[in-house]
Amino acid sequence: MNNTLQDFLKGQLDTLHAEHLYKPLTTVTSAVGARVKIAGNDRELINLSSNNYLGLAGDPRLRQAASEAALAIGAGGGAVRPIIGNLQLHDDLEKLIASFKHVEDVLVFQSGFTANAGTIPTITDADDAIITDSLNHASIIDGCRLSKAKRAIYQHCDMDSLEEALKAAMGAKKRLVITDGVFSMDGDVAPLDQICALAERYDAAVMVDDAHGSGVMGANGRGTAYHFGVHQKIDIQLGTLSKAVGVVGGYIAGSSALIDFLKQRARPFLFSTGCPPAVAAACIKGIELMRDEPELSARLWANTKYWQEGLQKLGFDTGVTQTPITPVMIGDEAKTQEAQRLLRDEGILALAIVFPTVGRGKARLRTMPTAAHTQADFDEALAAFERVGKKLGLI
Ligand SMILES: *Cc1c(COP(=O)(O)O)cnc(C)c1O
Repeated sequence: MNNTLQDFLKGQLDTLHAEHLYKPLTTVTSAVGARVKIAGNDRELINLSSNNYLGLAGDPRLRQAASEAALAIGAGGGAVRPIIGNLQLHDDLEKLIASFKHVEDVLVFQSGFTANAGTIPTITDADDAIITDSLNHASIIDGCRLSKAKRAIYQHCDMDSLEEALKAAMGAKKRLVITDGVFSMDGDVAPLDQICALAERYDAAVMVDDAHGSGVMGANGRGTAYHFGVHQKIDIQLGTLSKAVGVVGGYIAGSSALIDFLKQRARPFLFSTGCPPAVAAACIKGIELMRDEPELSARLWANTKYWQEGLQKLGFDTGVTQTPITPVMIGDEAKTQEAQRLLRDEGILALAIVFPTVGRGKARLRTMPTAAHTQADFDEALAAFERVGKKLGLI
């Protein structure tokens, strides 16, 4: 083993520990639902830390679909999709999403992350400009890093700052504005109506990463663009199959030309194997349930209201959220990690989010109500939050 590398790694780890930024992994040993079991703890914990918005990750109908597809077709696709790994189930899933989202076509990637990393550099060149919100997700940032285009960062959801950046980019051949639909750590929503109006004025294309809007925003969870009624004006929508849909994967929805070109050039599509039959079949079932059972998202929003009002009544600061993403703002990293530990002792799983996922000094517990939680789950969690909040002087 190379000592220089080992010394570097140990030094980095020591720094993370010293700055309270080291995050041990929690290992889940049960199905993922409103309550979960974790390794080293016999008790069932109330799970407030998943992105399993609609409770579909553990849904028996998705499990059934996954098992049947694995038994009928196999464990894997056998090759990358452009060679011979393009399964009928991949085509079926893409057709279903396209019809659900009212777009011409869809391409499914292995994850939302690879959808960003594969799409952004493929549709931009050196003489283009990408104009991106300062709080956009890491996978958008990495997608931009892979592109040769010039990059301008506008202040978070600030339309004056966006307009300035668009004006400054008028010399570029193409302009592409990229924003999260719902911001993953604060839960606020991008003003897509205003963004589309500015983009139109300055001849820019718009890409919305709706990882947290899929299954949550708009009728039947079609997404943030539908919430604002601007889906016809959005050139590129990214959705994830890993959060509300409950499985894993990401997709790009847009024009036939966009999808056709991505199939020729997007590197994660060309050079990395597509999802296995079980995943595609479970995703199909998840999207069908979203389409056919609007009560799932209705329950998510009712639960969100109950949980957020409960926290606010106790005096917690839930930041600027407009969606189920419910940060409990604390600020100090060490205190946030302590709150996580105390809550776990109380039977509540609410994970601390610290730098680099959020800025330094902006640490928080990120809590996520889902459609699968009951009022009793929330009441029990609120009582624990009250005890821990008082102990740490948060309320
Ligand atoms: C989670 C997330 C992704 C990545 O999605 P995966 O399918 O988990 O890779 C991309 N963008 C945003 C905004 C996200 O929150």
